[in-house]
Amino acid sequence: MAELRKDYFTDRFSIVNKERILDLPIYEEEEDDGKDCPLCVGKEDTLPPAEFVLSSSHGSIIKTSDSIERVKEWKVRMIPNPRSLVSLDVTQTYSESPLYSEPAYGYDYILIASPDHKEKFHKMSLEQWTYVLISLQDRIKSLLSKKKVIYVMASITQGKRAGVIYSHPYCRIVTLPRLPLKIEEEAKTVQTYKSETGSCIMCDVIKSELGGPRHILSTDHFVALTPWAPTHDFEFWIFPSKHETDFQRITQREISDCVKIIRACLGALAKILKFPSFNMVIHTSPEKKITKKIDWHVEIYPTLRAWGSLEKGMGIYEIQVSPEVAAEKLRQYAKREFADLTFE
Ligand SMILES: [Zn+2]
Ligand SMILES: [Zn+2]
Repeated sequence: MAELRKDYFTDRFSIVNKERILDLPIYEEEEDDGKDCPLCVGKEDTLPPAEFVLSSSHGSIIKTSDSIERVKEWKVRMIPNPRSLVSLDVTQTYSESPLYSEPAYGYDYILIASPDHKEKFHKMSLEQWTYVLISLQDRIKSLLSKKKVIYVMASITQGKRAGVIYSHPYCRIVTLPRLPLKIEEEAKTVQTYKSETGSCIMCDVIKSELGGPRHILSTDHFVALTPWAPTHDFEFWIFPSKHETDFQRITQREISDCVKIIRACLGALAKILKFPSFNMVIHTSPEKKITKKIDWHVEIYPTLRAWGSLEKGMGIYEIQVSPEVAAEKLRQYAKREFADLTFE
């Protein structure tokens, strides 16, 4: 038996298989030794200078940047993407519908997420994850203040099936000169619901999911759940447990808590899938459009298979492992991962 389910916040539908539990495809990712990796330690001079570098000294985080002399001891490096998609140097030409176009103006950065080529996000230490999230937050904050930047997308990709462009662990931060449709739709629902009921639909959804069949894990400040109508098998979301609209403004304490829940859930995913290929995207509120607020959150899409005709042709998502089954499996392992991570 399957059912058509509508997403909480948008008009997107998924067909969820409620009975069959597929034999999960278990993939291993071939390891490469990083011999030709442009992001590895020792290649700093061949890359554009880092706009910031985080390193550690006696337990505290030091923020510096490259000069002609590159910083050699680092935990993470934020560099302009050598294969940038958007650019500051665009011809200012626009054209009218139906061949509408506007300049792809913007900034594109790569955060080299670890000095270790073989590091994996699902095994990464909490300390290294903290460097990563702090860097993403810092960059989002500074880019949102730039002219013509409406939205900043921060993302993490792992695994060939998820479409990595480097085998070295990295994150990507791209700015957009307009609000992406997904965020636009979420914000519209939030606004309509707010004017009708006076409360926040995102907070209400999280409250109603707590303790239910899709709830994976809660920490001091966050909740992890599989969504009612996912777009990928084993997809999960992480929301702040209290109403909070801007990732760029969360505190150090919240960041430390956030890395624990992300890492525990990814660790759990790795227990189920062996090697989790995934895309992780942060949804946050745009700064310059105050009517477009959403509760910031993280969405993680594991890639168990390529999208088929339903997804590509119809925009309907086929889900073979129901979010209830996925949450049950993730919950078992995530609790253990969390306990191991926080054991002192
Ligand atoms: Zn490398
Ligand atoms: Zn809210």
